[in-house]
Amino acid sequence: MAGGDVRHSRQGFSAVEMADVFSREKRSAVMSAIRSSGNKTTELRLVRSMRLAGITGWRRGSRLEGRPDFVFPSEKLAVFVDGCFWHGCSRCYSRPKTNQAFWDDKIRNNRARDSRVDRKLKHLGWRVLRLWEHELRNKRAGFALNRIRRRLAR
Ligand SMILES: [Zn+2]
Repeated sequence: MAGGDVRHSRQGFSAVEMADVFSREKRSAVMSAIRSSGNKTTELRLVRSMRLAGITGWRRGSRLEGRPDFVFPSEKLAVFVDGCFWHGCSRCYSRPKTNQAFWDDKIRNNRARDSRVDRKLKHLGWRVLRLWEHELRNKRAGFALNRIRRRLAR
């Protein structure tokens, strides 16, 4: 999911091609592979940016509700990096032309789960910051880091 076309995974499948080529079972396996690999790349980009910016106190691999990508335990701040396609970014999401019911359902479920996770974390006393994948692309990473800094300062 790098680059301008958010529907293209790093493996080179577009969501549309995937939906056409794979059976439902296979598709679901392929999607989860793409999902974790896409997340990982974006996460690593944020790791690098935070290190360069001198932002400290974060941990990865948290087992908190929703598995936040980063947590700042002292500040009780949970940070998620949401993929623009999978989480239906209003700026980047482009609806696939085929299997629309399938994709609409998928994205709607993902968004509903995000809201549930946010509510649960807040209930547990955590603050939640969600960054979009597009906010971490090259020149924009600075804005994402500022969002993190502002939340940490509060
Ligand atoms: Zn986006």
